[in-house]
Amino acid sequence: MAVLPPGSVIGIMGGGQLGRMIALAAARLGYRCAVFCETAEDPAARVSDMVVAAPYEDPDALQRFAASADVVTFEFENLPRDAANWLSEHTLVRPNVRSLEVAQDRVLEKTFLNERGIATTPWVEISDAGSLDQAWQTIGAPSVFKTARFGYDGKGQAMVRTREQLDDSWQGVNQARGVLEGFVDFACEVSVIVARAPNGQVACYDVVENQHANHILDVTIAPARITAKTAEVAKKTGMAIAEALDLVGLVAVEMFVTRDDEIVVNEIAPRPHNSGHWTIDACVTSQFEQMVRAVCGLPLGTPERHSNALMRNLIGDQASGWQDILAQPETKLHLYGKSEARPGRKMGHMTRLYELTDQWAPDGVESALQEWN
Ligand code: AMP
Repeated sequence: MAVLPPGSVIGIMGGGQLGRMIALAAARLGYRCAVFCETAEDPAARVSDMVVAAPYEDPDALQRFAASADVVTFEFENLPRDAANWLSEHTLVRPNVRSLEVAQDRVLEKTFLNERGIATTPWVEISDAGSLDQAWQTIGAPSVFKTARFGYDGKGQAMVRTREQLDDSWQGVNQARGVLEGFVDFACEVSVIVARAPNGQVACYDVVENQHANHILDVTIAPARITAKTAEVAKKTGMAIAEALDLVGLVAVEMFVTRDDEIVVNEIAPRPHNSGHWTIDACVTSQFEQMVRAVCGLPLGTPERHSNALMRNLIGDQASGWQDILAQPETKLHLYGKSEARPGRKMGHMTRLYELTDQWAPDGVESALQEWN
């Protein structure tokens, strides 16, 4: 199995904060990065050796980018399919384009999972007016309508309580293909990140708990406050998905834990994930280093957690409090170098470490979060 030695160039499609943190981890191992992004001011472009700033389907730009990289990876899954296919025909792309396709489309994703015996919420595809009836009869309310493609951070989603709301949601997205899925009154939301190397070696991070505010990740709690048995099921599910996708790189799996302690997969992302940022400060090998190791064919590092951790996103003008954050000596601050703090924009994150335990003390997370405010 070919190993790409340090000094090789990792091409990253996408210039956001995930690309930036991949590039920083790559630099630490002696790799160089080329970033394909929309503008040369993007967060990843600012820390990379080479930048191709162009629309994602620009053929000349893709050619230049592919020629400069020894392996190409991506930091977001909504990459145009044609661009991903062209790259995979002309260079080594990791993870494979199939993983990207599955993650890009909720119908493909849920079908892929269900065919492998992995539970999702009950769902029905909405492709025309007739399927609205079928979806309403099968799923009913409460439910969530989601567009099949291009949804993130709650975009392209609507809560459905009446038949009329279902019609309105579908009209609201110009009758785009979508799914109606059952609303889950979950006990908590968790995620797991799995790394997989070309030789099939896997490394699975501890299961973490995610709390959202305004549909955007707010806090990650590592480890999740779930039973060891549930955590084991979540990890096994993550590893089964990595295996089934024959993936090289990382896959993040977002799941709901139901009130009966069942695991239900919500969605998958074949890339580093916001809910894995805590691994930079609390694990022996961060998710970003792990991804570099995987796509370059290096042995994976241990994903072991050396501390409990809380990670908090800094959204919009929350990052303007950087001075106060830095004045807390135990808080690790990570800023993404974005010049404009638009509402809802992820500007940075911060992490705090705590004593390593299997289970948090009762109210331990609440009091730690309160103290952090
Ligand atoms: P998604 O874009 O699918 O990750 O959804 C964003 C967030 O909306 C999730 O993290 C949940 O908090 C919530 N959500 C999505 N789907 C459901 C569902 N079927 N039931 C309950 N909450 C949901």
